Amino acid sequence: MQHLTVVVPAYNESESLHAFHARLATVFDRLDLSCSVLYVDDGSRDDTWPIMCELAAADPRVATLRLSRNFGKELALTAGLDHADADAVVIIDADLQDPPELITEFVRHWREGFDVVYGTRASRAGETHLKKLTATAFYKVMGRLSDTPVPRDTGDFRLLSKRALDALKQVRERQRFMKGLFAWVGYRQKAVVYARDPRFAGTTKWNYWRLWNFAIEGITSFSGAPLKLATYLGLGVAAFAFVFGLWIAIKALLFGDAVQGYPTIMVTMLFLGGVQLIALGVIGEYLGRLYLEAKQRPLYLVDEYRPPR
Ligand code: UDP
Ligand code: MG
Repeated sequence: MQHLTVVVPAYNESESLHAFHARLATVFDRLDLSCSVLYVDDGSRDDTWPIMCELAAADPRVATLRLSRNFGKELALTAGLDHADADAVVIIDADLQDPPELITEFVRHWREGFDVVYGTRASRAGETHLKKLTATAFYKVMGRLSDTPVPRDTGDFRLLSKRALDALKQVRERQRFMKGLFAWVGYRQKAVVYARDPRFAGTTKWNYWRLWNFAIEGITSFSGAPLKLATYLGLGVAAFAFVFGLWIAIKALLFGDAVQGYPTIMVTMLFLGGVQLIALGVIGEYLGRLYLEAKQRPLYLVDEYRPPR
């Protein structure tokens, strides 16, 4: 019988876990697969870990993994996938925003031969207008810049076949923009549209600062285009300066040159200074990532792992 593992990263999700597991267990009972779930505790500061252990004691299909501290969702997910060894793996959030019932449909498409079946959000209930707006803007920019097309309104909720999982396990980069990596893997991909529910309990761990950094992560991981920005901006400014210089020279020849031009000099200086700092900042973003990559630290550290019984 084929085996399915569901990987659930959780950070301070004590309020949702029982309800989540109840719904997931119902889905498991209906599937004609041998199923297990791997809960990854990403260094939670509430009762998430004891609750996971409780679930494991009550249900032999439950495996638990605890990281040494909070590493962030992308790494918690990576840790979970590294410990999963199944014919298919499903990734799902613990907050019940992604309905576990959809897994049945994912499995159906997987059996049709798809390697990656991902959920695309038709609606985003419980999210503000600003969040929706910024999300749209992000997908637009990403679509323009990235060499790997990242499907829009798609989170980490998805099913991976064994070979897609194995491919992903080979990607050991530290700057992990998972949505991009899933797309990068390729193979036969299939989108399933669903309505995203509001959070069951607790609050989102994403504020706008984290989202902004997440967006920069995505763009720098999958595109070098911002690095070219400086070149073209420089070319543009140089061309403009050439024409402007010509004009000043001609003006001086025709009308003479009284000592003037303080505003011009100030504006030019400030503008060029700004442009240079932006260009340096862009290079810095890439350099900083290169530095992190070069240190070759382990991606995450495991505190405790208990496989399913
Ligand atoms: N999560 C995690 N580590 C973190 C932050 C979040 O494992 O540092 C988990 C969290 O418990 C949840 C999932 O990642 O299961 C998605 O997080 P959240 O609901 O805050 O994100 P959103 O749904 O708002 O994008
Ligand atoms: Mg959520």
